[in-house]
Amino acid sequence: MPTTTMRSDRPTPRSPRRHLGGLVGGLPGGLIDGLVELGALVLPVSCPGCGEYDEVVCARCLALIEGPPWRCEAAAGRLDRMDGRPILPVWTLAPYTGQMRDLVVAWKDRGRADVGRRFETALHRGVRDLVPALRCGTTPDPLLVVPAPSSAAARRHRGDDVVGRLARAAARGCSTEGLPAVAAPVLVRRGRGRDQVGLGARARSRNLAGHVVVRRRSVAAVRGRTVLLLDDVLTTGATLAACEQALTLAGAVVIGALTIAATPSPGATAGRVEVVAAAV
Ligand SMILES: [Zn+2]
Repeated sequence: MPTTTMRSDRPTPRSPRRHLGGLVGGLPGGLIDGLVELGALVLPVSCPGCGEYDEVVCARCLALIEGPPWRCEAAAGRLDRMDGRPILPVWTLAPYTGQMRDLVVAWKDRGRADVGRRFETALHRGVRDLVPALRCGTTPDPLLVVPAPSSAAARRHRGDDVVGRLARAAARGCSTEGLPAVAAPVLVRRGRGRDQVGLGARARSRNLAGHVVVRRRSVAAVRGRTVLLLDDVLTTGATLAACEQALTLAGAVVIGALTIAATPSPGATAGRVEVVAAAV
């Protein structure tokens, strides 16, 4: 049996989580995760990036997210404030192309929670390289790592707060490195804002305008606090811009954002070099 297959003809094993989904409906997320891990022992698992068998994420694909985070905000047009203020710094782990894109899609849309664990580990490690930069703007209070809010439809589809898990991993990484941090899921989507998937840059901004807010009960808690935003993929920047606006209105100070992947700017070829806008 070959250990790898070409992208065009690689097998697509059933997702353990989806396979088990019909059997465990209504159970807590942690218990479902445990059953997924158990299911991986008896169901075929392969790396979503390249199809390698018996690997959640193979070593080559894992290498895509193992390097230190780098700045990627220049490719996100909707982050440009156009009022003279510098653009919000955004760090990421990988370009959202090729195998990385396949990993993210498997995690978010095909129930591969086991792939998400690899992302959490990579963020936990990667954010530690950012601590010197993040320490600059912090108050004595712990840094708040705030996940971008998912739409209700996305949460129903994915069955888990996947970005919240990333935020908790990043907060643990900061704390491990000596910068006290806590995950703070204080943002919520309000009204009819729909999932961003499939929307263009302008439509994303319209979709989110006024629909991302700080939960009423959290407004006092974020006032004056320093915030690192956390999202899965940076595309146009509309989501992060809406998050920053909501937090700023509540009196928080957003010092940057971290994602696991970033879409390269138009015209750039796939690859790390083209995505890099500025070194940390
Ligand atoms: Zn792979």
